[in-house]
Amino acid sequence: MSRALDNVDTAEVAKFDALATRWWDPDGEFRPLHEINPLRLDWIRQQIDLGGRSVVDIGCGGGILSEAMATAGAEVTGIDMAEAPLAVARLHQIESGADVSYRQITAEALAAEAAGRYDVVTCLEMLEHVPHPAQVVTSVAALLRPGGQAFFSTINRNPKSFLFAIVGAEYVLKLLPAGTHEYRKFIRPSELEEWARRAGLELQSSIGMHYNPLTREYSLGSNLDVNYLMSFCRPETE
Ligand code: SAH
Repeated sequence: MSRALDNVDTAEVAKFDALATRWWDPDGEFRPLHEINPLRLDWIRQQIDLGGRSVVDIGCGGGILSEAMATAGAEVTGIDMAEAPLAVARLHQIESGADVSYRQITAEALAAEAAGRYDVVTCLEMLEHVPHPAQVVTSVAALLRPGGQAFFSTINRNPKSFLFAIVGAEYVLKLLPAGTHEYRKFIRPSELEEWARRAGLELQSSIGMHYNPLTREYSLGSNLDVNYLMSFCRPETE
């Protein structure tokens, strides 16, 4: 088996396949992704004008972020290893009119095929679902042209994130189906930064994504204890 296929957890991919038809239901299992999407899109657009940029969205699922970036003027390729969410994404864009090109391919395989080809790589809520996240980060760096930018989001690993992201989100507030996340796959910001640095990327910015259970609203803020986003750039000269 190739290294690229080694980095796919088939049980994880099966979870997303099973829920695919629900992807665009704003009140369904993927409701949190719908609710955080404007916030994370704004955060990306504060750092780069997406107009005319070539973007690859890794682990795009049903295409919530991919479509929004295409609507903002980017030329987007969405990749995922789950077949059903990609089928849903392709159908959805017929309705929405967004223009995204979807492919079932790993980040590693795309990096072998299209190294240095992209202005922007996004990889949101995906790293905590793969066996070797550092390897995905290396592929993200390889996909970027010099001067390109990468955007990640994932979940921190500490007692508070266990309480908020698993106990709170999956069992108490039921924001996500039970079993969506596994604590040991969570990633500390220092770990993500180290993997990115080793892949030749420079940290640009980081921000936390917070949920207020009383107002049921999400917001961005400085605390990275639970959900967080991080952006990096590939230097022009290495
Ligand atoms: N990035 C999207 C979807 C997040 S859900 C968003 O934030 O809106 C996580 C996605 O990662 C799922 O669609 C799942 O199928 C995908 N995924 C899991 N392992 C993967 C892998 N090894 N390669 C590509 N995609 C993967």
